Amino acid sequence: MTLRLFTIVLTGWFLAGTVRAEDPGLDIYFVDVLGGAATLIVTPEKESILIDSGWPGLEDRDPKRIAHVLKDVAGLKHLDHMVTTHWHVDHYGGVEGLTRLLEIKNFWDRGLPEDQLSDVAFPDGPKADDPLGIAYRKASAGKRKAVLAGNTLPLKPGVVAEAIVSGAKPITVHGPVNPLTASAPADHEVDGSDNAQSLGFHFKYKDFDFLDLGDLTWNIEKSLVCPIDRIGKIDLYQVTHHGMDISNHPTLLQTVSPTVAVMNNGPRKGGSAETVKRLRALKALEALYALHKNQATSAQDNADPALTANANAEGGQFVHVHVEPDGRHFTVRIGTDGLTKRFETR
Ligand SMILES: [Zn+2]
Repeated sequence: MTLRLFTIVLTGWFLAGTVRAEDPGLDIYFVDVLGGAATLIVTPEKESILIDSGWPGLEDRDPKRIAHVLKDVAGLKHLDHMVTTHWHVDHYGGVEGLTRLLEIKNFWDRGLPEDQLSDVAFPDGPKADDPLGIAYRKASAGKRKAVLAGNTLPLKPGVVAEAIVSGAKPITVHGPVNPLTASAPADHEVDGSDNAQSLGFHFKYKDFDFLDLGDLTWNIEKSLVCPIDRIGKIDLYQVTHHGMDISNHPTLLQTVSPTVAVMNNGPRKGGSAETVKRLRALKALEALYALHKNQATSAQDNADPALTANANAEGGQFVHVHVEPDGRHFTVRIGTDGLTKRFETR
């Protein structure tokens, strides 16, 4: 081989190597916002999706925690997609503060009253004179869209983020009756709060499935798996409603049968003993992570201290899930250098 030909071959090989960029996998960060919700998903294409934005006020404590993870840990400069599951302050209160810290390109929510969606209720606002509602409308003006069940976020190929419930309406799926329907516990009284209206997302990346149902409650949770299972098996489950037991319907848990569950509770919010019992009863569950210890319940009704991100009540430590590029394994780590465990997807 001449030197010239060798150089061309070598250059071609080098270029092919650099052009075919490595898939870095998918990352999910459960940001600690002390009993609120703020879950950041970063796709292999470096698109960012934040589901809920924590609490308002407190000198922008929660927006600062979110911006820290997005910029300093994930290395991003802006937020592509801000998703708000429902109109409670622990889910959309951080939007105003966040807009002071970074650019948000798109807003997605379950709708606002002015969208005039048919048959969608707004029991808890946001009312026109609510300062947080004013701030949200201002920040999202011209950049927001209501999401209905069955809609997907406009992401590059490789990751699918599908809304499976919105405004108390589940996605339409045809299939056989879920055999667990027969043993489902009785319905609760109708939940008239915004929790029942929560937007819920199913993220899919290769063999990996992640479920975030916001603060969805009992009867609507049941409608996602009974009589027809509209979800399927899940690898990673964000424990719904901060771990409260009016959510986390046992039949939903048994149907989605997660390998790992992460609970975004606070020291004095969520993390109920009954929810922990229901999760521990799941055969497939290999690990239950919590952002905090519930200070009101016993050690045995809490996650293992080694899998609890924050030992002190002020918190601030996140849980990081990394899905490997082949989609067959994922690791869960406390913060940037804490305990790391590896799991298989299915
Ligand atoms: Zn909440």
